[in-house]
Amino acid sequence: MDLGFADRSVIAFAASSGLGLGAARSIAREGATVTICARDEERLAAAASDLEGDATGEIRTASVDITDPDDIRSCVAKAADATGGIDHVIASTGGPRPGTLDDLSHRDWYEAYDLLVMSLVWTIEETRPHLVESPGGSIVAITSTAVREPIDGLALSNVVRRGVVGLIKTAARELAPDVRCNAVLPGAFDTPRIQEIIDARVADETYPDRAAASAVWTEDVPLGRLGDPAELGDVIALLASDRASYVTGACLPVDGGRLRS
Ligand code: NAP
Repeated sequence: MDLGFADRSVIAFAASSGLGLGAARSIAREGATVTICARDEERLAAAASDLEGDATGEIRTASVDITDPDDIRSCVAKAADATGGIDHVIASTGGPRPGTLDDLSHRDWYEAYDLLVMSLVWTIEETRPHLVESPGGSIVAITSTAVREPIDGLALSNVVRRGVVGLIKTAARELAPDVRCNAVLPGAFDTPRIQEIIDARVADETYPDRAAASAVWTEDVPLGRLGDPAELGDVIALLASDRASYVTGACLPVDGGRLRS
């Protein structure tokens, strides 16, 4: 299936690693010009040269902290100038601090809100003028199954990510018919983030070792394993593309069957 990305410009946030990088790879294979964004320039450069092996279009990088609206503004403006506009946005983020309600400070709550919700508010504000000029403008946000069923030990994710779904549903209505807005809800994927959570659960003695802390992510999953970021990336590529032209406001689990609701 041709996803029609050949002459499109895509900006992918938080995409030097993990799920954002997986989405960038799936789209880069389809021939889009892809700008990957994150904070650390060395990791960005390494991710770009890795992507270039798979890409059939141009790969660009931009250093940005998505918790800083000025950074997002200048990054979007530069990417649009360099690539002749922006057609599609992939909005991943870093993960909020793991922990239960008892573990979190008030500052942790505000920081998670900036990281997960305000980053997307600012991204929509800055990219919207470009997306409405595109013949197929779209936004895909990467969030989590935690928005449907809470995950123990991830209080910030359980609470704050629901705002991302509210924002995507609202934007899908307000930006229609020019721009489609969707979210994917990943289950457990094998990325540095999940390994970090596994380490944290061992460090806080929730589980005795990494094997036990890892098993919890797969034992109630019908497909019985962690996902590969490419398996999410391909779904994101389809949702972002014109082939999903009648899909907006969707919040699609990609979770090996983990959600029961
Ligand atoms: P990851 O492998 O740790 O990658 C995170 C990416 O975000 C990196 O490129 C990182 O680069 C970038 N980043 C972090 N903070 C940033 C900031 N303030 N500004 C710009 N870029 C930033 O994580 P992942 O597994 O891909 O997870 C991505 C998101 O999906 C997270 O919110 C995670 O909680 C969520 N999620 C993950 C899973 C899973 O199984 N992996 C499941 C459900 C939900 P820099 O540090 O260089 O900026």
